Amino acid sequence: MCGVFGIHGHEEAANIAYLGMHALQHRGQESAGLVAVEDGRLRRHVAMSLVSDAFDRDTLAKLPGRMAIGHVRYSTAGSSELRNAQPFLFEYAGGQVSIAHNGNLVNATELRAELEALGSIFQTSSDTEVIVHLMARAKEADVLGKLVAALKRVRGAYSLVILTNDGRMIGARDPNGFRPLVIGRLRDAFVLSSETCAFDLIEAEYIREVEPGEIVLIEKGGMTSHKLTFSAEHVKPTFCVFEHVYFARPDSLVNGKSVYRAREKMGQRLAQEAPAGGDVVIPVPDSGVPSAIGYAKEIGIPFEMGLIRSHYVGRTFIEPQDSIRHFGVRLKLSPVRSVVDGKSVIVVDDSLVRGTTSRKIVKMLRGAGAREVHLRISAPPTTHPCFYGIDTPNRSELVAASHTIEEIGRYVTCDSIAYLSHEGMMAAVNTDGTGVGYCSACFTGHYPVALGTSDLVQLRRVGV
Ligand code: AMP
Repeated sequence: MCGVFGIHGHEEAANIAYLGMHALQHRGQESAGLVAVEDGRLRRHVAMSLVSDAFDRDTLAKLPGRMAIGHVRYSTAGSSELRNAQPFLFEYAGGQVSIAHNGNLVNATELRAELEALGSIFQTSSDTEVIVHLMARAKEADVLGKLVAALKRVRGAYSLVILTNDGRMIGARDPNGFRPLVIGRLRDAFVLSSETCAFDLIEAEYIREVEPGEIVLIEKGGMTSHKLTFSAEHVKPTFCVFEHVYFARPDSLVNGKSVYRAREKMGQRLAQEAPAGGDVVIPVPDSGVPSAIGYAKEIGIPFEMGLIRSHYVGRTFIEPQDSIRHFGVRLKLSPVRSVVDGKSVIVVDDSLVRGTTSRKIVKMLRGAGAREVHLRISAPPTTHPCFYGIDTPNRSELVAASHTIEEIGRYVTCDSIAYLSHEGMMAAVNTDGTGVGYCSACFTGHYPVALGTSDLVQLRRVGV
């Protein structure tokens, strides 16, 4: 998963982009990068680190200009190394273009093979570079025409922010609108961001979303909107419901809705569907907090912080090796004995993926004196991997892909376990509860955009 940001028309573009990326840090912690333009030249700085470590006063001073784009990355396609850090910067026909991408293309492997057969030499293992090569080969003279030509060939998820050396900034979103992308104003400047929380930090005004299948071109005269036209298969918006469940920050609006309120409602619905008797409701911080508040409110049991999160370790999920990940849970969360000792505890988490986190948490809570531990998950069982940009492990590692809910309960050693239903989750994000307009493939296996051959190989390997 990644975060993208762009600002056009501000005297401190790189500084503002730095702040914007800071607010989007939760979307990716592996690499951070910034590209700014001045006097017809793009300048770039990327590093394999958090935003605050990647840039200091000197590096920001070397990125002058009134336009800048930024990217924070957590790799879902392509390995975690500097050559894959974005924004990418490339040269073609005398011009320079920089691109920052959030999402995952599903036909990148096929397109890459095709382009390599035609002589393209790839410098990274990222799917984003496919867009770059398609743009370079396009017959169209203008960058917008080149982009449209490239996007017509790719399938999957992309929210893009692009900067050209002649001072144009482009925002583009795939026709399904899997990943978020919003437009704001900061005085005379236009801003683009994955989430509105970046606008709040820089005190920009939220204008609207970049629509699914829309390209916005921002240049000196203002902003113009262009529609991508595609085949019927591609036209239905399917925003990623997991952005609401887990990924986006609760203070953001995504898909026009408050993430906090959606999570709170998921908790309320969960309490209606799966009430538990207990003395105290505790969240798994941070992502489980709003749904635990909703659960506690609905059921009328006190909400307390029975687990404290250390903010000095990264997301445990992100640690690549199992050995570190297991250790990481204890490093990140610790129980509050005075809250849980002798109590029947209802623990609310936003999602359960491999089950290793919950298992550790149950053990920790019992170790701190909890008499009973009832686990409530404010999303349905995660049964399928995501091919559109969320890092979910292979299907074989998703505990709900091969185990019943009772078996999962036994594995995590809780006294009771329940998940939110699919209808309940959809009701929380969409008033009619039908789920139209959302992708929930990780919970259903219904993939709205046909998968590429390499993705299908992964699914077939585990017998789907
Ligand atoms: P697991 O131990 O694999 O069951 O991890 C579940 C925990 O990871 C939950 O507390 C979630 O909040 C969190 N989580 C779920 N999906 C992701 C993801 N794609 N990236 C990072 N963390 C996640």
